[in-house]
Amino acid sequence: SGVVAERAGGAALETLRRVFGYEAFRGDQEAVIEHVVAGGDAVVLMPTGGGKSLCYQIPALVRPGTGVVVSPLIALMQDQVDALRALGVRAGFINSTQDFDERRVVEAQFVSGELDLLYLAPERLKLNSSLELLSRGKVSVFAIDEAHCVAQWGHDFRPDYLALSVLGERWPDVPRVALTATATHATHQEITARLGMPDARHFEASFDRPNIQYRIVPKAEQRKQLLAFLKEEHAGDAGIVYCLSRASVDRTAEFLVRNGIAAVPYHAGLEGRVRAEHQSRFLREDGLVVVATIAFGMGIDKPDVRFVAHLDLPKSVEGYYQETGRAGRDGLPSTAWMAYGLNDVVQQRRMIQSSQGDDAFRRRASAHLDAMLALCETVECRRGRLLQYFGQEPQTGGCGNCDTCLSPPETWDGTVAAQKVLSTIVRLDRERRGQKFGGVHIVDILLGRRTAKVIQFDHDQLSVFGIGEDLTEAEWRGVVRQLLAMELLGVEGEHGALVLTEESGTVLRGERKVPLRKEPKRPTTRTPAAAK
Ligand code: ADP
Ligand code: ZN
Repeated sequence: SGVVAERAGGAALETLRRVFGYEAFRGDQEAVIEHVVAGGDAVVLMPTGGGKSLCYQIPALVRPGTGVVVSPLIALMQDQVDALRALGVRAGFINSTQDFDERRVVEAQFVSGELDLLYLAPERLKLNSSLELLSRGKVSVFAIDEAHCVAQWGHDFRPDYLALSVLGERWPDVPRVALTATATHATHQEITARLGMPDARHFEASFDRPNIQYRIVPKAEQRKQLLAFLKEEHAGDAGIVYCLSRASVDRTAEFLVRNGIAAVPYHAGLEGRVRAEHQSRFLREDGLVVVATIAFGMGIDKPDVRFVAHLDLPKSVEGYYQETGRAGRDGLPSTAWMAYGLNDVVQQRRMIQSSQGDDAFRRRASAHLDAMLALCETVECRRGRLLQYFGQEPQTGGCGNCDTCLSPPETWDGTVAAQKVLSTIVRLDRERRGQKFGGVHIVDILLGRRTAKVIQFDHDQLSVFGIGEDLTEAEWRGVVRQLLAMELLGVEGEHGALVLTEESGTVLRGERKVPLRKEPKRPTTRTPAAAK
């Protein structure tokens, strides 16, 4: 078998160079490909951008027959197939976006052995017609992409994935490779159990990106903070700035240009031609900053991106990791910088509440958001939290290359402050039924400010008016933000009014302590120790 493996290895490397034009394999790719080409099953954990596709594309090309790829990302299939065809690979897909005739053509190609790769949506495999189709051709390998979707208690569970166990039963001699970027150990167990792959070899890449420095700062004046960060630490560097909305992308790009930074916007609202031009300038030119929605970056492989900045909170840790992971592919020091504030939490909680999805969707979205918030509010090593999130062991004693390691945040007992915020909300609620208020107004009351709104509602007459003069505005915003993150406060209605949650009572009754992260007195872009 040593000879067989060697020959397989030779063919794999030859295919990598001839078809894909790459010199060498990365990380676990070679080991996975050799194992699968030789007929073994594999479960592959690699971060996004790690190079999972080649792990099944090359076996599909080396082994006789067609590689069948099950992927839930229907929207990407056309692009993936186009990209493969451009390399001379015979690829096709079958999904619900096609009409009958288009599908017939692809099916005929598969049966007559004219395809190297066939992409299928998972729901297809519930259909007997699809299984019969597969038995009429020759399958070289099954690839199950986004394999964590089979995990019932995971964030992205898709019932259609449960039907995939049929592949091993009907085609016991065809190797299967399950791939994911987001598996914890529990999810891995579930993948092997539910897909019926007890003998699969597991390949697990490290998620650590040691050259990326992670920093999350409290948001004050986000664009000014960004500008200071760019000028102080990344003058002339190429980087990506992510914003949530198109409007905010446009405004931020204009602001940077006005302040002497070479920056271009990128979002789906721009004309295709403009988008393509900005993308190619980013790849070609030195030191261009792209301000973008998350649409930007898919398939971008620029090695010298020196920073990724977030002006808005990503919806999940996966998203954050993937986006920040575009920095420093060349292994040189790079920064993942994010400004994060109270409004981010309010906005995202509101978006989840008002979303079209069902309850299960909302629960998943909330769980994703909670994990992201926990990363933002942690007083521990950020890299450690990230690694733990992906089910990997963090370095003991911290990484020494994130803001919390470089300048450990102080904590304080925020129980009394939390009680002040919560009892203000209780008072407001009692006083005027149905009328609810947002964080800004509540902080104004605590600080004893006679704003127009305070006067309008006679809130200067409340017993809680001015009881918070011991803390600054930024500190109060920090308290409210952290209470929201811990779900000791909730959000209601389209204006993001603050409301109590089930847990709030435990704080009001003094049954629970509330340790909080100390806000910096003045908003800074960098942690002092990080200055070089
Ligand atoms: P994933 O599916 O894990 O997110 P991809 O398979 O899309 O990652 O690969 C990410 C990028 O890395 C792609 O642009 C791909 O062409 C590139 N890539 C993958 N393997 C190699 C390699 N061995 N050498 C150079 N580039 C590679
Ligand atoms: Zn650290």
